Amino acid sequence: MAGAVDQLRKVLALEKARRFADTAVIGGLDAYLQCFLQEMALPSSHHFCRVLRSLPPGGYRVLHPIQRRRVVEELLKTVKDDPPEPPPSTSRDVGVPGPSPASGRSDRPPAQRSTAALDSPLSAFKGVSRSYGAKFRRLGVETARDLLFLFPHRYHDYSQVRPIARLVVGEEQTVLGQVWSAAESTIGRRKATEAIIGDDTGTLRVVWWGQTHVARLLRQGTRLAMSGRVTAFRGRLQMENPEFEAVDDESLHTRRLVPVYPGTEGLPQRLVRRLAREVLDSLAEAVGDPLPEALRERLRLPAAAAALRHVHFPDSTAEAERARQRFAFEELLYIELGVVRRRQQWQAGGAPRLALPVGEGFLRSLPFQLTGAQQRATNEVLSDLGREVPMSRLLQGDVGSGKTVVAAAALLAAVVSGYQGAIMAPTEILAEQHYRTFCGLLEPRAENLEPGGPWFSALGSGLLVLEPSYLDRPVRIALLTGGLKLSDKTAAQDAIARGEADIVVGTHALIQEGVGFRRLGLAVVDEQHRFGVAQRAALREKGLSPHVLVMTATPIPRTLALTVYGDLDVSVLDEMPPGRPPVKTYRLRPDQRRQAYDFVRRKVREGRQVYIICPLVEESEAVAAKAAVQEYEHLSREVFPDLRLGLLHGRVTPAEKEAAMRAFRDGELDLLVSTAVVEVGIDVPNATVMLVEGADRFGLAQLHQFRGRVRRSTEQAYCLLLSESPSPEAQERLRIMETVHDGFRLAEEDLRIRGPGEYFGTRQSGMPDLRVAKLTDVALIEQARAEATRLLEDDPELQQPQHTALRAQVAKLWGRISAEAS
Ligand code: ADP
Ligand code: MG
Repeated sequence: MAGAVDQLRKVLALEKARRFADTAVIGGLDAYLQCFLQEMALPSSHHFCRVLRSLPPGGYRVLHPIQRRRVVEELLKTVKDDPPEPPPSTSRDVGVPGPSPASGRSDRPPAQRSTAALDSPLSAFKGVSRSYGAKFRRLGVETARDLLFLFPHRYHDYSQVRPIARLVVGEEQTVLGQVWSAAESTIGRRKATEAIIGDDTGTLRVVWWGQTHVARLLRQGTRLAMSGRVTAFRGRLQMENPEFEAVDDESLHTRRLVPVYPGTEGLPQRLVRRLAREVLDSLAEAVGDPLPEALRERLRLPAAAAALRHVHFPDSTAEAERARQRFAFEELLYIELGVVRRRQQWQAGGAPRLALPVGEGFLRSLPFQLTGAQQRATNEVLSDLGREVPMSRLLQGDVGSGKTVVAAAALLAAVVSGYQGAIMAPTEILAEQHYRTFCGLLEPRAENLEPGGPWFSALGSGLLVLEPSYLDRPVRIALLTGGLKLSDKTAAQDAIARGEADIVVGTHALIQEGVGFRRLGLAVVDEQHRFGVAQRAALREKGLSPHVLVMTATPIPRTLALTVYGDLDVSVLDEMPPGRPPVKTYRLRPDQRRQAYDFVRRKVREGRQVYIICPLVEESEAVAAKAAVQEYEHLSREVFPDLRLGLLHGRVTPAEKEAAMRAFRDGELDLLVSTAVVEVGIDVPNATVMLVEGADRFGLAQLHQFRGRVRRSTEQAYCLLLSESPSPEAQERLRIMETVHDGFRLAEEDLRIRGPGEYFGTRQSGMPDLRVAKLTDVALIEQARAEATRLLEDDPELQQPQHTALRAQVAKLWGRISAEAS
């Protein structure tokens, strides 16, 4: 509950930061506040409720920003001075939870009373002691409602009821019989209850190890249902620790599919089952169903209450699965509604139409022909740019697939349409590299590609004027990085502000510091798969660039493209320029290290350069850096004393980092020892060997990224994977690397093996934890996407009465995401 208050505070702060534009939560602040109100069950006299009552019928949404500011500040006060109390718990000896005193006091309608009961603490139920209550809390179960959403992770199949004579050893079965005898006993040294159960066909010995109290529960003659696995003892059938209940009782623990709840250490399954049954019987209907009926019917989804019953106590596994799918769909729908809405909001802004009438000339001037994939991607990008709707596109392709030329075409379109274009890289050296590349691509004269060419001397002078043969105007290109002399920086900034610079190449600081562009039409963001929603929103808030192109070499599996990146359109470069042989990849055992070093030495003799990647160290970057330093020293002294080594890790200063990369690029180093955190995205065609230490600790997609760095020329490149782990799984994964060269396949494999959390910190990319759904379920995600689009087309603000509950849920989820991201 304190969490909810904290979240509200963050959401309100965010709303303030966004200048009261009602954008802090998807779905609007009104819906979010209603959710909060409901969850907290505040008395109507609370200041929070008074503030809400003061709103006009249209709510916060219809207020002028100045009025909104007042409301937000009032609300912030209510959570600052007088934090709302959660509804007080009812005393423990109440059998079935009544409405909490808070709601009893106020004049709530009956429907709200059962909602209050749903949100009353679980400790109000019979049999939930203080210590059980604490154990439930550890599972995140505080209220009756929480318990309904604690889903079983599997079921015992006790539906087979058999006479004793027909029992089969080893199977889960149910027996109905009469207690002939039952007594405490000591078997060997262990205390137990021992019983004989009989039916018309025979008798059965039953032992409950360690559970002497059972003897007291079983009176002679009681008709009993028992479920469990049947074993054999001295040639006779027996059951050990079976579940049991009186035949006359409702079947809860036997004779059916019986739920098994996850993570309930110290909590008897019997207790959880009984409570689940009790809450289902009294309160399932009160849960309400946020899914509109029309949608449920069309997709044949069970209603929430029925689905909850089926999840806990299904009649068949198919029924349980259908119910679970329903909740998974619901969860994904909330995500997609937010994502699609965000996309609509982005697109609601206007954008200038950008066109490239000289496209033919540009392409003819290039030293190579576009691959089919590049053509396709370029067309997609240009067609986006030609519309008045802001582009929001992700261009993904392996390292070396040729993304830069696609960006160049887009930037050129901005320039010839009278706008500025910017491209941002994560490091200074990459920005410099782009600067050189763009000069070469836009005015492909041979000397432009040589160090010492005109752009080289122009580096730092603020502005370089190119005169492409296919254009009747010059293109002025500026480099802006933190490393420039102050006077050069100022000159570049002035040129940008005056609109004299047509294309600006820089680091991400370009947008972070909000450099003043005169008329920016397009921003390209390179090599930044974490360039998330928040940054794109920041761009917009600075009044920058309606068109955005994000480029990444990290393959984004389709499921992530539909969720985390769901507000982006995707173009894929799935084809390499011709004449680039795949990187020959070998996995090596620890005893083959000598051979690896010999190979490295041989390649260096041939004049090549080599990357050495240190193992992934989980603890901290400090530890990783230390390991890299040790590796570097070991290699310099013991292994390659005659070679020139460089070192890179996350603890060196940016200047040192740039210096090391520059030295490597300029051929002053033979070997570059580096940790994984360091972006090695520089283009060094002469580096053709990569050696990865502790390769099994890396994800497949990441290994693929690494080896892409050496695939920069027609020269055969090599990737050596060293691994200390003999585990078959580790070896199997590395074997995949030897044979599979498709980044997408590797990414899917990664996602499957390691889950999305590991794939790349999903939290920071704005992805909530999923409770029921799995991020690997493409079909379900696609369905949720389609339905979200449909719903929002029909009712963009989800204001129709049948969508009220839906809107509240979406607001709640995205409120949490906003709060976590801020
Ligand atoms: P990335 O996708 O990693 O950014 P780049 O755009 O840097 O790849 O391209 C890698 C290299 O391939 C560059 O040297 C570039 O000039 C070259 N290249 C790009 N497209 C083609 C092509 N269609 N044919 C031949 N070479 C190409
Ligand atoms: Mg690139």
